[in-house]
Amino acid sequence: MPKTKVSLDVTNLNNFVYDMSHCIKCKGCNWVDHTYMPGIKFSTRCPSATKEIYDSYGAYGKMRIGLALNEGKLKFTDELLKILYECTLCGACDVGCKRNLDLEIELTLEALRVKAVADGAGPMPEHKKVAANIAKTHNRYGAKHNERKSWLPVNVKPAAKADVLYFPGCASSYRHKEIARATAKILGSTKTPFTMMKDEWCCGNVLYSVGMIDEAKKLAKRNIEAIKATGATVLLTSCAECYRMIKVDYPKILGIATKDLGFEVIHIVEFVDRAIKNGSLKLTKPVNLKLHYHDSCSLSRQSEPWTPWKGERELWGVVKPSLERRRGSNGIYDLPREILSSIPGVKLVEGIRKRENAWCCGAGRGAKDAFPDFTKWTAEQKLVEVREIGAEAITATCPYCKESIAGAAATAGDNFTVLDFSEIIAQAISR
Ligand code: SF4
Ligand code: SF4
Repeated sequence: MPKTKVSLDVTNLNNFVYDMSHCIKCKGCNWVDHTYMPGIKFSTRCPSATKEIYDSYGAYGKMRIGLALNEGKLKFTDELLKILYECTLCGACDVGCKRNLDLEIELTLEALRVKAVADGAGPMPEHKKVAANIAKTHNRYGAKHNERKSWLPVNVKPAAKADVLYFPGCASSYRHKEIARATAKILGSTKTPFTMMKDEWCCGNVLYSVGMIDEAKKLAKRNIEAIKATGATVLLTSCAECYRMIKVDYPKILGIATKDLGFEVIHIVEFVDRAIKNGSLKLTKPVNLKLHYHDSCSLSRQSEPWTPWKGERELWGVVKPSLERRRGSNGIYDLPREILSSIPGVKLVEGIRKRENAWCCGAGRGAKDAFPDFTKWTAEQKLVEVREIGAEAITATCPYCKESIAGAAATAGDNFTVLDFSEIIAQAISR
């Protein structure tokens, strides 16, 4: 094999030809790791392939589609766009594939969407509507921009300047204000002064996810400058999607490393962990719940920091300089479990598919906007599993997970309590 120059740049699908052409169709991207597989039930990890059954919906199918598109042997059609976008970019396929082969499946899926937009085929009409909302109102819903901080309780006054900048994001500012309020209660309880941006805009995760790379880059640059202008050293988010977008995708699309962003990005889970360890937070009030913790993809397998890489691929596919792969194992899994189980009254019940093998909620990365039935089906499958393990409540670390799981439970007439992680912590605070 001749030496080839290669990088992780998602704007050029050629960078992923090796990955696409070395897929051996083993379907490790769809099957849960065999050691954890309980039987035929709950044995798959890819919502897209599991729902649609056709191979083209699995990562293995998308790799072949990508090769054919790259070689000009296939053209975008409506069905092809459905295959590419009826997928939450949850990363389950990526970590599954890297158990064996270290192919960059997630990046290839992202590069395919960038190509779909560059070729004038994507994104879906619903995504264009969300993008238009963001351009006009700076939030994904098209809600009034001047109501973005309407969640703030009257007795909570963000500081003009502080080390911690709270970034609630669109979902917690407009649709799930209870999450932003619970986060403010946690901050108040630890006596942590926090500031907010004068003019907070959407993080833009949907723009990047659907392949609108130019718009996403513009927003990323604007937001990074606005964050730095606050003087804060820590950006705190209570939304897993904002967390992944700012911590991982901003550096990825701007060609820098997470560590060079100029500020640290933390999720409320990490903040609570630090506060418990430094003694400023005590969770002593009982919360009596038989609780299932849902691993939100963007805080778990998709949350590892980004480091840019470019080099050469040599014989046997060896890359030089060596590439530190993002395999999902260093995502945030233990912290929320340790924190929740320390609360008196909480009995944590593990799912069958968990951690790197967790089943996605079905909402993220533009999937719910364009394919709400797919999201509903995916969230219903989550509930089937939760019923099986006997949990009475579910918690996650992302407003999008809360919304899709709670929506499916309501439709099914289930009595599950669905609460965000921050809400449970707020309940457990004694003062
Ligand atoms: S796990 Fe990787 S190699 Fe195996 S079928 Fe899926 S994408 Fe292909
Ligand atoms: S990102 Fe998730 S939904 Fe999309 S192909 Fe991979 S496992 Fe399936």
